[in-house]
Amino acid sequence: MLATMDQAREALSRHFGFDSFRPGQEILIEAVLQGRDVLGVMPTGAGKSLCYQVPGVAVPGLTLVVSPLVSLMGDQVRSLLDAGVRGAYLNSSLTPGQQATVMSRALQGAYDLMYVAPERLADPRFVAFAQQAAPPIVAVDEAHCVSQWGQDFRPSYLAIGQFIAALPKRPVVVALTATATENVRRDIVRLLDLQDPFQLVTGFDRPNLSYGVERLAPKRKLARIAAHALAHPQDAGIVYCSTRKDVEKVHEALLAAGVRATRYHAGLSTTERTANQKAFIDDDALVMVATNAFGMGIDKSNVRYVLHHNMPASLEAYYQEAGRAGRDGEPAQCLLFWSDGDIATGRFFIEQESTNEELTPEEAERVRAARRRMLEAMVGYGYTTDCLRSYILRYFGESSPADCGNCANCRGDFKAVDVTREARAIMRCVHNLRGRFGKGVVVDVLRGVASDRVESFGLTRSRCFGELGEGGAVGAGAAVSPGLLREVIELLASQEYLVITEGKFPTVGLGPRCREAAQDDFVLSMKQIERTASSREARQGQRAPSRVFGSGTSEGASAAGDEGLFQVLRALRKELADKQGKPPYVVFSDATLRDMCARRPATDEEFLEVSGVGLMKLSRYGEPFLKAIRTFEHDSG
Ligand code: ADP
Ligand code: MG
Repeated sequence: MLATMDQAREALSRHFGFDSFRPGQEILIEAVLQGRDVLGVMPTGAGKSLCYQVPGVAVPGLTLVVSPLVSLMGDQVRSLLDAGVRGAYLNSSLTPGQQATVMSRALQGAYDLMYVAPERLADPRFVAFAQQAAPPIVAVDEAHCVSQWGQDFRPSYLAIGQFIAALPKRPVVVALTATATENVRRDIVRLLDLQDPFQLVTGFDRPNLSYGVERLAPKRKLARIAAHALAHPQDAGIVYCSTRKDVEKVHEALLAAGVRATRYHAGLSTTERTANQKAFIDDDALVMVATNAFGMGIDKSNVRYVLHHNMPASLEAYYQEAGRAGRDGEPAQCLLFWSDGDIATGRFFIEQESTNEELTPEEAERVRAARRRMLEAMVGYGYTTDCLRSYILRYFGESSPADCGNCANCRGDFKAVDVTREARAIMRCVHNLRGRFGKGVVVDVLRGVASDRVESFGLTRSRCFGELGEGGAVGAGAAVSPGLLREVIELLASQEYLVITEGKFPTVGLGPRCREAAQDDFVLSMKQIERTASSREARQGQRAPSRVFGSGTSEGASAAGDEGLFQVLRALRKELADKQGKPPYVVFSDATLRDMCARRPATDEEFLEVSGVGLMKLSRYGEPFLKAIRTFEHDSG
């Protein structure tokens, strides 16, 4: 036993100001304290940091934290210091002299936690230091970076296992990630050489996030995104784009609309990236427009919405990015805007991907096949008319209530069209063509279009030729539009009724679930393509803050009062944070401010009751916040 759970709970309330662990945290920390390696897989915002921070404080000795993001270590450590935890970091942003000072102070026992960049582990001076420091715990944050299956692979993570093995006394290893796939988990255990690890995969549900999907024509996306930002003028948000060019376009459009936006992508200088990231974290720029290069390890807890300008390559990637909204547990929105082009781009990237030299051609093809399946599942999310939350949870292997009531699909914010007839005809046609042709040919055959390709393969004689054409065999009346047919083919592929191979000549073939489509009870419905969401957004905008309040009148009135106080406290937070050169969320999270508004503490004791307030926070910020609350109550009678 490295420390007791009571000591852990003491650290939790004293430094972090929380009175209870979240379920996953408790189990993981208990295992760590018992000296067992752990692998914790929890969604973004679940509170993984506490799983090593609390043991770091409770267990004597220096806990090392390997974290991939040099640019954020400063903030992470500032957060800890603000909570009265003795933290430090070592990375390339420090001069060699500063590094030497940090290491020698560490050896004197000045710190409980030290963040290091993975590159550091290959530095002989650091290795010598670590051997002397003999850390009882080594935590590996964002542990999926060790795996080549994901897009965040960092070669430097591969050195972690060796580094640990070279320590005089093997520490307890705590590996944490939000990536849940089997492959990645297996890689983590193997490559970090975790020993009989306790593995915990917690619920992936994030009840405070509400999901929405809108399929938009590419040219409507900008207006839609700007409308959302304008409708939530007080809220911090992230807009993800798949290319730098799109980042530039969206950023420009937001600035033109008068939104305080900033941007982040790999094409910008390090200086600009750092400055923009800081502006966002400090609430100076409210909206960050970025590629997926932005966000890992960003702990900013008050992001109220994440919009996707393009469909990401997998649901894992989507969930990780979208999950950066609402880490504080307060309501937040995750909206995916997509268009057909996104799917084609995704397929293109999979085929183009420069093959990793360490993989044999067969392995490389397996990786590509896995990526294709991942993309199809993502496409399915775009099309599904089921509950979006359930769709995500099912993907991560969790069962879930049928309808969450809190996503765009459950609210019925869309029109569904029945496409069963078209789907059946497509399945028959693909069967007849024996999977030898692409989408274009399938569509032409069904519509009875005798194009050159159709003619040259003699497909005009096929049984399904013209089946969905004007006055065709299936149903009477007008021809089905080629656009709709293409969509239904994508929809069928996303649900594994069909498979679309890519490469030079993509073909459409039958998928593993093709038999189900032939059964009598098979039905397929599809979302209507484009909806005008901007009008709804504009209506929401009039109800200034994005929070939804209870409708009872007295409750409504006090909630409105809370909102006024919230604005006051938020301004105070920003002022104090700026004065100390800290990000606002480091001072208090939105959740803590909300709790303050609800409780309206008048004394130190009451202030301590607020979730997220520990002794250190009380002594640092109790006075100004208590005063602000008093003044507000006085002024509002
Ligand atoms: P993750 O690394 O899993 O994405 P973080 O460690 O950044 O998540 O924590 C997300 C948020 O949850 C932070 O704002 C943190 O203060 C809050 N949090 C963590 N643990 C608790 C807890 N036991 N009670 C209340 N809030 C918590
Ligand atoms: Mg984290």
